[in-house]
Amino acid sequence: MGGTAVEMLREMMRGEVIGPADAGYDEAREIYNAMIDRRPAVIARCADSTDVRAAVRFARENSLDFTVRGGGHSGGGLCIVDGSLMIDLSRMRWARVDPEGRTALVGGGSQIGDLDHEAHGSGLATPAGIMSTTGVGGLTLGGGHGHLTRAYGLTIDNLLAADVVLADGSMVTASSDEHPELFWALRGGGGNFGVVTAFRYALHPVENVGLGVTLWEPEHIGAVLRWYRDFLPAAAEDLNGFFAILTVAPGPPFPEEIHGRKMCGVVWCSTGATDEESLAKTFAPVAEPAPPAFHFATPIPYPALQALFDDLIPKGLQWYWRGDFFDRITDGSIDVHRAFLENLPSDLSTMHLYPVDGAAHRPGPMDTAWAYRDAVWSGVIGGISPEAADANRIRTWAVDYWEALHPHSMGGAYVNFIGADEGGDRVRATYRGHYDRLAEVKRTYDPDNVFHHNQNVLPAGS
Ligand code: FAD
Repeated sequence: MGGTAVEMLREMMRGEVIGPADAGYDEAREIYNAMIDRRPAVIARCADSTDVRAAVRFARENSLDFTVRGGGHSGGGLCIVDGSLMIDLSRMRWARVDPEGRTALVGGGSQIGDLDHEAHGSGLATPAGIMSTTGVGGLTLGGGHGHLTRAYGLTIDNLLAADVVLADGSMVTASSDEHPELFWALRGGGGNFGVVTAFRYALHPVENVGLGVTLWEPEHIGAVLRWYRDFLPAAAEDLNGFFAILTVAPGPPFPEEIHGRKMCGVVWCSTGATDEESLAKTFAPVAEPAPPAFHFATPIPYPALQALFDDLIPKGLQWYWRGDFFDRITDGSIDVHRAFLENLPSDLSTMHLYPVDGAAHRPGPMDTAWAYRDAVWSGVIGGISPEAADANRIRTWAVDYWEALHPHSMGGAYVNFIGADEGGDRVRATYRGHYDRLAEVKRTYDPDNVFHHNQNVLPAGS
């Protein structure tokens, strides 16, 4: 891109415009997954929605390919492309809470921790992911599940409105009253329809929650999963618990004798049991499948739970992931989990089954673009390592695991867990019967498919 064009963009924006020759370029192009090392032609670090509008118009007028960066957490690096304009929302991190109305208005480049922190100040929270550093942008537009899902639904079930910069640079608010088809599509359809500069969420009274971590030796994985698949769906909705295979981290709260050991486990979050006595009662059943190798439960402020994994998996690691939805945990799938637990390729590699039942089953199948209201778990297989030399090994492990597990799945994955290299058929599998409706909304709001660096829905008729 010519220097004059960059100067023009600079004049239009309040935020910084950063080119390859500028100090800060390398820092600005870093994203969470260190496997992605790309060099945009220019980075428009927007300060506000007016900057976003200017950047979109600038891209359109100069026929430039562009990407949108929220929190930079997408596994495949959807927010950054070589030689394009990156519309970077990372300066737009803010949250304002209305404690009486129990709502939060949150900047489109915010991280989950920004929302959690501000809402917690009023004793409130809303469901989002399980790490404070994930962007609310990509997470919400994909659906969003986390520790509060069984109690209060998906993130999109709590989305009340979104301010959106459209493909022509105009701006609208989408809600159930205004642009309702766009609002429907934004709730699960990913970044296909525009740049969301602010999200309005409903909040719930959540202050302290009960955290539980239970680990079992690998030989008990069959008994544990057979117990878990019955126990959790039948449990009260105020109890959430995601299943994981993992290597025990070398630090507190884990005792030294289990550091570095492969185990299976569940990370629990209870919004009902928030004192020692009720936690002991809630978690009494964890001994049923087999004696745990480790069990720990404590009341904890919700934002502290959300930040629990931030240091364990910081920015700068190698990541490759794939996912699928599951409506049951078959005996055959348990054999697959057992085999891939035995050959975990690195200490951080893992597989999680996140519950998407409870309150997330309450909206009707057509209410939002999320097409798997009948799923009980959203599974993700993550090959993760600090070593660049491990990149192929962790990718191969994740792909092999996914191929073995896929026949036991419902066929499609949570859109935010599809690998960037998986292709359009997987996007169709994610949206099932909703794909054609999404394609119609795409034709209305982005007929030229300028928002295409995402899990792309093609405009109807294209
Ligand atoms: P980015 O890489 O910035 O963007 C991803 C996509 O979203 C791009 O296509 C981008 O264009 C689009 N986008 C982002 N912001 C906007 C916006 N404001 N307007 C329009 N488009 C936008 N997901 C869960 O649901 N629950 C979890 O618990 C969870 N845990 C995770 C933990 C880790 C460590 C990681 C890396 C990811 C996790 N995810 C989880 C997945 C996460 O939801 C996705 O990676 C999501 O895409 C991250 O959003 P982002 O804004 O950070 O990503």
